Amino acid sequence: MKADTRILSIIVPCYNEEKSVPLFYAETVKQETFFHEKDVEFEFIFVDDGSKDGTVDAVRALREKDNRVHLVSFSRNFGKEAAIIAGLEKAAGDFTVLMDADLQDPPAILPEMYRYIEEGYDSVATRRVDRKGEPPIRSFFARRFYGLMRKISKTEIVDGARDYRLMTRQVTDAILAMKEYNRFSKGIFGWVGFRTKWIEYENVQRVAGETKWSFWKLFVYSLDGIMAFSTAPLSIASVFGILFCLVAFVFMIFIFVRALIYGDPVAGWPSMMCIISLIGGVQLLCLGIMGQYMSKMYMEVKDRPKYLVKDEF
Ligand code: UDP
Ligand code: MG
Repeated sequence: MKADTRILSIIVPCYNEEKSVPLFYAETVKQETFFHEKDVEFEFIFVDDGSKDGTVDAVRALREKDNRVHLVSFSRNFGKEAAIIAGLEKAAGDFTVLMDADLQDPPAILPEMYRYIEEGYDSVATRRVDRKGEPPIRSFFARRFYGLMRKISKTEIVDGARDYRLMTRQVTDAILAMKEYNRFSKGIFGWVGFRTKWIEYENVQRVAGETKWSFWKLFVYSLDGIMAFSTAPLSIASVFGILFCLVAFVFMIFIFVRALIYGDPVAGWPSMMCIISLIGGVQLLCLGIMGQYMSKMYMEVKDRPKYLVKDEF
């Protein structure tokens, strides 16, 4: 290795990807010729997120051929966000890139991404321009989610953004400095800022295995995202409070005047029940929202490790 050789750390979160890992490696090393000319060496960091299949063995097999292959293996499944942070922490590179093991993040565009870094960008991000091969209902809710996020969060969260991202050491360190337990990478990337170049490409199907994201998992993840990067839901209680005070005030005057004119026959039990249950419902909703934020705070305060390592090389 020459003195001015720089390292590009390729971080790959893997959960049950025994079939994808060798394919991913084979595809990615093809890009090395370009990087060698630039005096950039690859370093692979596979993060095994508690896989139940032979993912770890697949990485070991690669290591036997190539000692630039590294592994961090978790004690159980901690989720992709934990895998990303573990990979970034282990990375020694001058540049880091996050890539899925299933080749949905095409290695073929790595050279193009690197050229933008050379041009002076701090990070090169990717987004899918279409959602081909995805269930329509999922696309529908994904769009609504990004639309809502744009309205209620100050942090820019781009529709169709993938985690596939090439970053300089400076950006990597900025991301590592964000110590939160409830991590939502798409928001974190936007929050840290820096000069970011967006590259677009068409959706690619995964090479092997299947997606780990059920509709429900994605739904919960989107709620986590909203709570991590917006406090707008917390103000719902105040908005309803003000609204109901106004309505109550108008109503009070109306009833007072009516009683003055027509006397006070006992009536209105049904409308009373409607109002009581409506207000009761809204109160519970607001309490629930506060409870959600409180549970996030509870997890942050506990300050548990984001992942536990079982095995590493
Ligand atoms: N992944 C992970 N932990 C998980 C779920 C997924 O490390 O709990 C990894 C997975 O192995 C893959 C990447 O995250 O490399 C993206 O997952 P997947 O392809 O299932 O998501 P999709 O592309 O369908 O959104
Ligand atoms: Mg995938």
